[in-house]
Amino acid sequence: MTSETGSVSKDFIREIIEEDLRTNKFGGRVHTRFPPEPNGYLHIGHAKAICLDFGVAEEYGGKYNLRMDDTNPVKEDIEYINAIQEDIHWLGFDWEDRLYFASDYFDQMYEYAVQLIKKGKAFVCDLTADEMREYRGTLTEPGKNSPYRDRSVEENLDLFERMRVGEFPDGSKTLRAKIDMSSPNFSLRDPVMYRIVHASHPHTGDKWCIYPMYDFAHCIEDSIEGITHSLCTLEFENNRPLYDWFLDELEVYHPQQIEFARLNLTGTVMSKRKLLQLVNEGHVAGWNDPRMPTLSGLRRRGYTPEAIRTFCDRIGVAKANSTIDVALLEHVLREDLNERAPRVMAVLNPLKVVIENYPEGQVEEFEVPDYPQDETRSETRKVPFSREIYVERDDFMEDPPKKFFRLAPGREVRLIKAYYITCVDVVKDEKTGEVVELRCTYDPESQGGQTADNRKVRGTLHWVSATHAVDAEVRLYDYLFLKDDPYDVEEGKDFTDNLNPDSLVVLQHCKLEPALAEAKPSDSYQFMRNGYFTLDSVDSTKEAPVFNRTISLKDTWAKLQTTK
Ligand code: ATP
Ligand code: MG
Repeated sequence: MTSETGSVSKDFIREIIEEDLRTNKFGGRVHTRFPPEPNGYLHIGHAKAICLDFGVAEEYGGKYNLRMDDTNPVKEDIEYINAIQEDIHWLGFDWEDRLYFASDYFDQMYEYAVQLIKKGKAFVCDLTADEMREYRGTLTEPGKNSPYRDRSVEENLDLFERMRVGEFPDGSKTLRAKIDMSSPNFSLRDPVMYRIVHASHPHTGDKWCIYPMYDFAHCIEDSIEGITHSLCTLEFENNRPLYDWFLDELEVYHPQQIEFARLNLTGTVMSKRKLLQLVNEGHVAGWNDPRMPTLSGLRRRGYTPEAIRTFCDRIGVAKANSTIDVALLEHVLREDLNERAPRVMAVLNPLKVVIENYPEGQVEEFEVPDYPQDETRSETRKVPFSREIYVERDDFMEDPPKKFFRLAPGREVRLIKAYYITCVDVVKDEKTGEVVELRCTYDPESQGGQTADNRKVRGTLHWVSATHAVDAEVRLYDYLFLKDDPYDVEEGKDFTDNLNPDSLVVLQHCKLEPALAEAKPSDSYQFMRNGYFTLDSVDSTKEAPVFNRTISLKDTWAKLQTTK
């Protein structure tokens, strides 16, 4: 990782891996996994985990698995399974043929559970969920042993088998590990290993009506796959002794669990449950709404995989939780788009300009560089110019204040790579008084935006030829939430009360230069002076194109850094 000062240091996970390689702990192997639960779409927080899990494996010449952690049949869905794969491929990682499903191991897990029962390390318990909570104890008091804890091995084997074949209703019995009800670590107070859920599973159908709990399942999945370093987020730190206990008691291959801090971003909700709520309550247009922090939303908005990976590198990995300013993500995105995006002209709020002394029907094509910011690139395109053009409404003022250097009555300005024009008349709507058209003259000697006498003008405007323009809808986005902490609400209110009512502004009949008729959803453009834009992958059609503003040009990150 490169710190802000530019020095290169290793994070604690890479240090552990290098030490393990040095001591040959796993026979010199590095094998990681990313284990999403397919109950929602992946978000930018998952990207951090993926870049770490898969990134370290790539760096140390290892392997990585994608594993659907599908142990809960009720919330999981094939839509999510497909979206997860699409999103990770888009980020640029390839797990080759190593896509696994936790549910593929249900038979093995069942065998292991039976093994623990035989060892006297697991028992079938009839306590209800409420009773179990009472028996659990508190932080200061030890728990109490379940009255079913001393069932014989034979009875436990019999009951567990009957749980499996469906003799008992949901919630009536569980299989629990027999560890220590007085352990200071709650995870070790006889945790539940299996529960009864009569529900169809997307992968195993109706084969099972008992499903393993995360803590029992996860370590076994890692062990079966020969994972070396099982990286997970900090909230699993207390579960590590349980992870180790199961594998030690089963006497099987034992990966090492290592916890790191999850990503939190200002102004961003990252819980899948909350994201699902935004979708279900219609606050956004779906998981891939461009305002969502999901990878599909960011992609549709115009984020590039490179920007997201650079961001994940830049924030690094730490052992303590923190919140990253979303301005850093935007800063990294602008850096990436600045390099990648060709500059084009698009008028978002059009005002018609008629150039009175320009011949009717004449069209000139000006050669305009695609990457004027980059001296090493020479690509250009042709942009048509004609008698009627559009400029931004904001680039004209009838009665301009001193500091306004753009178009005004009698004022001359430069049109980018075209001509100098001077405003000679203003046409208004008779009823409303609104300016509907400007009449201008041009200086034929200023072709290409330069005059022989090198006459100075204060303003340079972008423009689009009216007859050649692509008519498009443009969507401008702002933060989805009004507060840095979306969960900061008064009693009785919900995080949705912090939603920004102006997070989406739709502009109709924007006028774009003709080259944009060829835009594809994965292309990024800088609309000069207006920001970075991309074609919407969902709602756009050839006849009615829709562009999303990925991000404005104004970078707030540098400012944040100096005021901190
Ligand atoms: P929930 O939103 O319900 O807490 P989850 O985000 O943990 O669920 P999983 O599908 O279990 O969802 O996550 C897969 C992996 O991604 C886990 O290993 C988890 O630790 C990691 N992960 C999830 N959120 C973040 C985050 N914000 N930052 C870093 N890693 C994350
Ligand atoms: Mg989880």
